[in-house]
Amino acid sequence: MRQRLVLESSSGPLEHLPFRFERWADGRVLVTNMVGEHVFLTTDEFTSLAELRVEDPALLRTLRAKHIVRVRGEELPVELIALKYRTQHHRLADFTGLHMFVVTLRCEHSCGYCQVSRRTPARTEYDMSPETALAAVDAAFRSPSPQLKFEFQGGEPLLNMDIVRLVIRRATERNRTEGRQLAFVIASNLALLDDEVLDFADKYDVYFSTSLDGPRDLHNRNRPRPGRDSWERALTGIERIRKRLGDHRVSALMTTTAASLGRVRDIIDTYLEQDFRDVFLRPVSPYGFALRPRQRNGYDMSTWIDFYNEGMDYILDLNSRGIPVVETYSALVLKKMLTNANPGYVDLTSPAGIGIGALVYNYDGAVYASDEGRMLAENSDTTFRLGHLAHDSYETFMTGAALLDPLEESYTGSAPQCSDCAFERWCGADPVFHHATAGDYLGRKPESAFCRRNTAVFRYLLDRYSSDPRARELFRRWTAR
Ligand code: SF4
Repeated sequence: MRQRLVLESSSGPLEHLPFRFERWADGRVLVTNMVGEHVFLTTDEFTSLAELRVEDPALLRTLRAKHIVRVRGEELPVELIALKYRTQHHRLADFTGLHMFVVTLRCEHSCGYCQVSRRTPARTEYDMSPETALAAVDAAFRSPSPQLKFEFQGGEPLLNMDIVRLVIRRATERNRTEGRQLAFVIASNLALLDDEVLDFADKYDVYFSTSLDGPRDLHNRNRPRPGRDSWERALTGIERIRKRLGDHRVSALMTTTAASLGRVRDIIDTYLEQDFRDVFLRPVSPYGFALRPRQRNGYDMSTWIDFYNEGMDYILDLNSRGIPVVETYSALVLKKMLTNANPGYVDLTSPAGIGIGALVYNYDGAVYASDEGRMLAENSDTTFRLGHLAHDSYETFMTGAALLDPLEESYTGSAPQCSDCAFERWCGADPVFHHATAGDYLGRKPESAFCRRNTAVFRYLLDRYSSDPRARELFRRWTAR
């Protein structure tokens, strides 16, 4: 009888296609295929899959539709998986789309979690020169990417607006013959925003990204400046940008410090009060100053996971009450989990996003594979320094061992533990993080805070998606953004 059912529904003997699995505490088993499509099975169903004795026609249909089994000799499932896999990696052909210009290390803030050796406003020797800026524009246009995003950061980029203006003008002029799609973003605390900057931003379609760590007391504690008015100045700047350029021209990011823990609802409420509908619950990063022993913003990843879980519970509750708000990182993960799209977020890509996703041009002409790689260099670790604009080319940056070795060694498709992990297709490789925290590009995943964070996020989202119809509908909406 068993044999007859299998033969009737499948027209031939079954065989496995590559899949990975993870057992859940409640006894279910998560099964994912080669392109990250997933299904939860009971223990009995999983046993029947493992032994290729699938008696339930509905289960068999699901397993075939998810490309977890095929009828021996069938080519179509393999071709479909190959097509989906290629689509997930199509961004690789474009190479570097994001070009970050560190136009100065100077800043009038002195944030405890600052990841670079920020310099006081008088130290102009830490400004990017016009020659370096123009060489960086040339390097950016060597990328074959049809979209080029120029992001200006520091320090505080508004302290070196002459170079920001020079880069944007040169890139715009050059693009008359290049025909790329250009975007310009200034990452600024907005404390020094003035009409002149707004006029320029208006003329060249410049966007702003700013920091908002939560309510006034928390933000001003995290982000000290003379006058202790960082929060007030940020909000004034946000309002001016919205009024002059439109709501969509400014976004905000928060960093979770030790002082933020236990205050996730206050933080989300502040975002809503300021009319931001996207909140990115970002852990503090372990680079630069943050690597110093006994630094005061440190906390264990399990504490951040509690913070994230409470924040997500609150966000789901707000949405169920008709107040739309999105957690940005979760939305990126869900896009990978529930669709075949790859949002290209650097922390969630493999091969890693360093170099091929973003390049960083430092004020002194050095080029880094990522902003985190530059932060390490500020602490004398130049592992991710790809070269110098004065004597190296884009081709040298992209083909040197400083980039290719970490890309190859951290690739999750072949890395120990990652290659067997049911979450691999949704996750990413982060060789800079693991180099900084474990001393090699791979790290040991059972001890990796990166792995713990992502595993916790994947588990939270899957639990809600599979058990709560309202969360399921909301998450589907988030993937459509
Ligand atoms: S880092 Fe962790 S969660 Fe991500 S693929 Fe590797 S083992 Fe899985």
